[in-house]
Amino acid sequence: MVTGASGGIGQAIAIAMGKAGASVAINYHTDEVGAKATLAEIQQAGGEGIVIKADVAKEADVLSMFGEVYSKFKTIDILVNNAGIQKDSKFIEMSLQDWQLIIDTNLTGQFLCAREAAKEFCKRGVVAGSSVAAGKIIFISSVHNIVPWAGHANYCAAKGGETMLMKTMAQELAPQKIRVNSIAPGAIKTDINKKVWSDPEQATELFKLIPYQRIGEPEDIARVAVWLASDEADYITGTTIYVDGGMTLYPSFAHGG
Ligand code: BGC
Repeated sequence: MVTGASGGIGQAIAIAMGKAGASVAINYHTDEVGAKATLAEIQQAGGEGIVIKADVAKEADVLSMFGEVYSKFKTIDILVNNAGIQKDSKFIEMSLQDWQLIIDTNLTGQFLCAREAAKEFCKRGVVAGSSVAAGKIIFISSVHNIVPWAGHANYCAAKGGETMLMKTMAQELAPQKIRVNSIAPGAIKTDINKKVWSDPEQATELFKLIPYQRIGEPEDIARVAVWLASDEADYITGTTIYVDGGMTLYPSFAHGG
């Protein structure tokens, strides 16, 4: 299952997982057309999937989404907790509504999906021949789980909280052979930051924050997700892999300090 798989990073991950042989539950909230495009690309490559509408912030939606997955695919092996949004504002102007919206979607939504997947992994255990782990959960975090970002307090708070959720789950569930990790993307070319990369002036400023001097592509994240979910990465749990072209390397120190 990939949440928020109708566009951007989630779409690329769902397609890459489908091409790697997974049957993919493609979750979307509002963009049905995008979700169907994800499915079409998986099917063209000979894979299979289903499209499921659910608001991950709502417990009832999440429960019924997992129910649909079980009726179609019997069980779940990999959860990619990707769905996330931004609602930016200056801190002193941030409404409770905008705070809550981001916490609900980006943090509570990830909790709800992770809990349901973990329940099934614990109940079912390891399936010989499928994977040496009983299940894998990948959170799509952000460099902003450690990089403060003025004007985005709600988003950073959610990403920081999510990191401790991931680590605590990893510690608690490791004896059940469940691996829980995060991928923290930097600036990846998607709709969420289009305003920045499509404007030459803002793009110049953005490049100053990326030592590797290119914006990331969704596929940069998707390749890591497929590997991290595979048994190749079996001894990895409770960690965050930064896929950010060096954004977390304090880029301004390349010329100062
Ligand atoms: C944000 C993007 C931003 C990137 C790097 C992501 O988590 O959603 O808007 O470009 O971090 O700052």
